[in-house]
Amino acid sequence: MPNQDTDLTEIIKGMALTLGASHVGITTRKTLEDWHFTTELDYILDGANSAVTFAVPFDEGDMEGSIDKFLAKEDHKELEKKKVRATTLANGIALEISGLLNQIGYEAEPVHANFVYRKDSPSEYRVPPLSHKFLAVRGDIGHMGYSGMIITKEYGSSVALASVVTGAKLKPTRSLPEEENYCDKCKLCFAACLGDYMIDEEDVEKIGDDTYVAAKKAHPLRCSYVCTGSTGYKEGKWSTWSPARFPIPEDDSELIKIFQEKAKPVQFERNSINGIEGGFYHPFYPGYRIEYTCSLCQLVCHPQKEIRIARYKKLANSGVIVEKNGERIPVTAEEAQKIFEEMPASKKRLYTD
Ligand code: SF4
Ligand code: SF4
Repeated sequence: MPNQDTDLTEIIKGMALTLGASHVGITTRKTLEDWHFTTELDYILDGANSAVTFAVPFDEGDMEGSIDKFLAKEDHKELEKKKVRATTLANGIALEISGLLNQIGYEAEPVHANFVYRKDSPSEYRVPPLSHKFLAVRGDIGHMGYSGMIITKEYGSSVALASVVTGAKLKPTRSLPEEENYCDKCKLCFAACLGDYMIDEEDVEKIGDDTYVAAKKAHPLRCSYVCTGSTGYKEGKWSTWSPARFPIPEDDSELIKIFQEKAKPVQFERNSINGIEGGFYHPFYPGYRIEYTCSLCQLVCHPQKEIRIARYKKLANSGVIVEKNGERIPVTAEEAQKIFEEMPASKKRLYTD
């Protein structure tokens, strides 16, 4: 059996890449030090020594084309399917690595890419068992964007992350040099967020010799409300892929009330009537099935600033989604307004107050 060693580290890193990851990083108790509570390896596996974290890009083919079509409201499904499948592949890689480690004598636990939350924290805070992104930035997967997401030189933030926590003493990888971080605080991720989830104030974390800076965050439900389609329009000329337009108030408790009591129940009704093609499974929604209608902060971010700007322009000119005979189509904001004004109350209640 290999000991604490480079051999096993290289085998596991190679395994992640062979199975479909684009990047892999290793963190240890020492390199994580006493960071945020969501980096505690013991929470996943008592006595754990290290963690393997990896990124799976949404696509290695025409991801650019799929993102452009998603942002321009030409096609929703193509990119959504890629994102869902990348997440599933990341989970599969975690399962396979933990299986191998177990078989050769090491304790190991796979940690889901997403949609699993700590049961000892209130569900509305959506606290993950382990912060893949903190482990990813501490390893050498990518940098911390001002959005708070991991950004990679190759795929921007369009990657799914998952991890394996193990008793094996793997050799840590080091954070990438901060001077290579392409984030210039352009804040296009802010501009693409109808939920106002990101706050333009720096949240600075110092770990060892490294400093990570991200924007502070508002209540997590500000993202949840918009991200999975309970609402998708605030004002202006564009929406997300959601046809709903429940208000997005500044006050968190008001927002949570509308989300939970009004928008989410009728979202389930709409989905029951119109169906969902694809999507993913989530514990906190009626019927447990939902789809991505936003992800705009993630999709707009690209290593090249001119592409970021072009992507945001596509979004800004994409129009407002309305649902007609079960199909979601973009129209101008004025047309959408007229459609809602003429809609019978029995149908309108499925989309707005
Ligand atoms: S969109 Fe701009 S500010 Fe946001 S993470 Fe990307 S580069 Fe940074
Ligand atoms: S997914 Fe959408 S709502 Fe959530 S933070 Fe990103 S842009 Fe905002």
